[in-house]
Amino acid sequence: MIGYSCPQCRTPLQAPDDRVGTTNPCPRCGAAVQVPAASSNKTLFIVLGVVGGVIVLGFMFCCLSVLAIQLLGTNSSKMFQTVAESIGSGS
Ligand SMILES: [Zn+2]
Repeated sequence: MIGYSCPQCRTPLQAPDDRVGTTNPCPRCGAAVQVPAASSNKTLFIVLGVVGGVIVLGFMFCCLSVLAIQLLGTNSSKMFQTVAESIGSGS
């Protein structure tokens, strides 16, 4: 089934998939409404795709930042040691 709405009175309508492109009269206002090719579902898929993409990107960013923190952590602790050693040898 394809869900769509009447452009005249905004009544939610439904039509079987094989009625795509055909014009049906609106049961409320009588306007001739063409059955769209599942455009409402397409919008849902686009929204889902965007949300999914953002989640995947966020997950990847989290993984990369954790990796970067680990790499920086080891590097900075080494730097800290060398700084501490130079301070210790200086005084
Ligand atoms: Zn209508």
